[in-house]
Amino acid sequence: MTLRVLVVEDDREIRALMQSSLSVEGFEVQTAVSLSEAGAMFRHHPPDVIVLDLGLPDGDGVELVREVRRHRAIPVIVVSARHQEAQKILLLDAGADDYLTKPFSVGELLARIRVALRHRGTALAAAVTEHALDDLHIDLQSHVVLRDGQPVHLTPTEYKLLARLVRSAGRVVTHRQLLTDVWGPEFTEHTHYLRLYMGQLRAKIERDSAEPRHLLTETGVGYRLATA
Ligand code: CA
Repeated sequence: MTLRVLVVEDDREIRALMQSSLSVEGFEVQTAVSLSEAGAMFRHHPPDVIVLDLGLPDGDGVELVREVRRHRAIPVIVVSARHQEAQKILLLDAGADDYLTKPFSVGELLARIRVALRHRGTALAAAVTEHALDDLHIDLQSHVVLRDGQPVHLTPTEYKLLARLVRSAGRVVTHRQLLTDVWGPEFTEHTHYLRLYMGQLRAKIERDSAEPRHLLTETGVGYRLATA
């Protein structure tokens, strides 16, 4: 089955580069140069994945992400420039799956697309309940966390935080999403809770918590559980 990607990008060079490299990888590529065009294409013929640039001539993309989320589980990967940090977080909170900051390599883009598609696929089939990478093994069904085969003892909040990251393994989860899902919607501004608990989790899980292998910081955005 050929997967269809909708690339929304007004920069002609970047658009052409993404189109050719994604085609080489076997994707069928559609392109749009504005949000209005992208919205029309999405409604007419929904793709399997959307790559959405933030710097578009006719708006900020939040409405498009919300519309996609209302109708289907299509992964949306946001592409932004560094100065668009706040807008990028808004889109992630609105339901975008992941993001890339310009300049990025085609390899990175492909990796993010694969993770997002896999995640949506498994989310439709069954929730992700297991995670294993190197020395770390997490099984949410039996409530077990092992490091080097040895049980790691976590507090209920530490476990909730880790479990939330396992369910989105490989993808960034924003501060707001983590605070809402672990502590509750009234705690979205309490980012110091996150820093505190992430520090505790790293001390228990990482070999070197100063250079985390598993619990990765996405500066200013959130955290990501490494899958590779
Ligand atoms: Ca642009």
